[in-house]
Formats: sequence, C-alpha cells, structure tokens
Amino acid sequence: MNWDIEAGCRSVDPEVFFPDRPHDHALAAKAICRGCPVRPQCLEFALDARLDHGVWGGLTEVERRSLRRSRQRRARREQTAA
Ligand code: SF4
Repeated sequence: MNWDIEAGCRSVDPEVFFPDRPHDHALAAKAICRGCPVRPQCLEFALDARLDHGVWGGLTEVERRSLRRSRQRRARREQTAA
C-alpha cells in the first residue's frame, strides 16, 4: 500500500513541514499530523530513512532522533536480558 496517498499533508504547502526554526515553528505541521490517518507509517518511514529535516509522523527531527536512540537502548537491553 502506498500510505502517502492518504497523507494528511498532500494539499498543504511543504514549507509548513520544513520550518526555518523547527523547534519554535513546528506546531502547525504537528497539528496536521495529529489528524493524519497514516501517521504511524509516515513516522516509521522517516525513522527508517533517517530523515533529518522537517516534521514527519508528527515529530521534529530532534524528537525522531530521541525516539531512535530510545528504541536502540531498549533493543540493547532486551538483547542483554535474553
Ligand atoms: S504524519 Fe504528517 S507528515 Fe506524515 S503524512 Fe501525515 S500529515 Fe504528512
């Protein structure tokens, strides 16, 4: 399935998702993402592709980096415990 066909941002100016000052101006993009039916797929795509600019899946690049690190730590803990 091409999840991007259902993207809530299809008709939105892409600049909304790539704000000049991401930390302060990502709120408009995040509000659109909140109602997007393919948010999980979008987020996983951005994480897998290591996209390091813009809001994807409702998260800024800083938030995605943090989520990726958190998942890596959890995976290491699970490996150690196994
Ligand atoms: S989650 Fe946000 S960036 Fe991703 S497709 Fe939906 S609206 Fe677009």
